[in-house]
Amino acid sequence: MTRVHIVGAGLAGLATAVALARHGVAASLYEAGPAAGGRCRSYFDRGLGRRIDNGNHLLLSGNHAAMTYLDTIGARRTMGGPGLARFPFVDVATGERWTIEPDPGRMPWWIFRRDRRVPGTNLRDYLSLLALRKAGADTTVAEALDPSGPLYKRLLEPLAVAALNTPPTAALARLLRTVMDNTLMKGGRACIPCLPREGLSESFIDPALAWLESRGGRLVTGCRVTALREENRRVIALETTDGEMPVGTGEAVVMAAPPWVADGLVPGLVAPDEFQAIVNLHFQIDADPGEAGFLGVLGGTAEWIFVKEGIVSVTISAANRIVDLSADELAQRVWPDVRTALRLEEPMPPVRVVKERRATFTATAAQEQRRPGPRWPAETSGAHNLVLAGDWTSTGLPATIEGAIRSGYAAADVILAGA
Ligand SMILES: Cc1cc2nc3c(=O)[nH]c(=O)nc-3n(C[C@H](O)[C@H](O)[C@H](O)COP(=O)(O)OP(=O)(O)OC[C@H]3O[C@@H](n4cnc5c(N)ncnc54)[C@H](O)[C@@H]3O)c2cc1C
Repeated sequence: MTRVHIVGAGLAGLATAVALARHGVAASLYEAGPAAGGRCRSYFDRGLGRRIDNGNHLLLSGNHAAMTYLDTIGARRTMGGPGLARFPFVDVATGERWTIEPDPGRMPWWIFRRDRRVPGTNLRDYLSLLALRKAGADTTVAEALDPSGPLYKRLLEPLAVAALNTPPTAALARLLRTVMDNTLMKGGRACIPCLPREGLSESFIDPALAWLESRGGRLVTGCRVTALREENRRVIALETTDGEMPVGTGEAVVMAAPPWVADGLVPGLVAPDEFQAIVNLHFQIDADPGEAGFLGVLGGTAEWIFVKEGIVSVTISAANRIVDLSADELAQRVWPDVRTALRLEEPMPPVRVVKERRATFTATAAQEQRRPGPRWPAETSGAHNLVLAGDWTSTGLPATIEGAIRSGYAAADVILAGA
């Protein structure tokens, strides 16, 4: 195969291109936005006069596809974090603080130690986690786990909301189980928090583009794909805002645009169609990053706080309930949580509120059923040389960096198998 054409240069599109390039197949990426990165990007914010990420992204060391991707593009060293599994929490309503520190190995000795487990929990509470194993195809997180206990309130609920970006009363327990199986259940070595030292683009996007370029990869930005032209069950051209891009005989196309775009471009596609927002607030202020560089927050509106030089960023997931509040209302609500959590005394500094209204698909049983596999077009009556990628395809994971990268690897496998 000479070249693959990829619609969308988010993580899924980039991971597809990286996996193909490792096998000597070059890709052209067509990106509608002004830069690559999609929902995982950094940009210069004029109001704050500095670069910020669209939203904080936390990756755990057990996310193997993401780690392989970073290794391949030579960017693992751009990731920082506490270097061991350490999760500090604060309850801003009560002032209580605690840190969870799973042991490195599989044996969870930490749950036997009162000073290292979640305050107020006992051993039996942790056994309740096994209930995730028995969760049925429709069981929600709140149904599978006991939502009344302190373990749920102080650890499982915050983790589930962060990983699934869906209220636990609706979120699919099986997706949480996969996340847990890849991380917490494998022990502390698999749940070391990894955070970009500088920014998302500096870790996940720019090094990938440089790596791809040196292997014949090509990125065209500001180029929106408006239609796929098909003939005899083959995509023969991409119609774009820059004109028509022919797809040569034996070449393939990867649809790596988000589902709300893909379903307009791929005839008959069934894809997730309900979404959840994530709201991030970036306060321009210096603060002590503490032991981990981030902090889980309970008892307020803020959920996770990340501290970098000159900037304190707050994430609120499953945020459909608050996304329509004005930026000012959100800042007024969240700043008191930040002050308490970080023990700050200053008045509210300049802030940028970033609302990603369709941050991820809603991780419910109904949406899960709408996730197609990479070969979906060929398996239905679609084009044989069209493959799907994206965090919304059926990766078995919720919409995450790991899911997006795995989907890209899966798409590349399909193409390489048919080459
Ligand atoms: C605020 C926020 C916080 C998050 N936090 C985390 C986290 O902590 N941990 C984690 O693992 N994950 C997190 N995620 C999820 C993660 O960012 C996504 O799962 C991942 O980035 C999705 O990548 P993707 O390539 O599938 O999709 P996208 O990033 O959406 O990429 C699709 C690309 O296609 C382009 N495109 C769209 N239409 C067209 C067109 N017609 N022609 C050409 N190009 C087109 C888009 O511009 C985009 O660049 C978060 C997401 C958000 C928004």
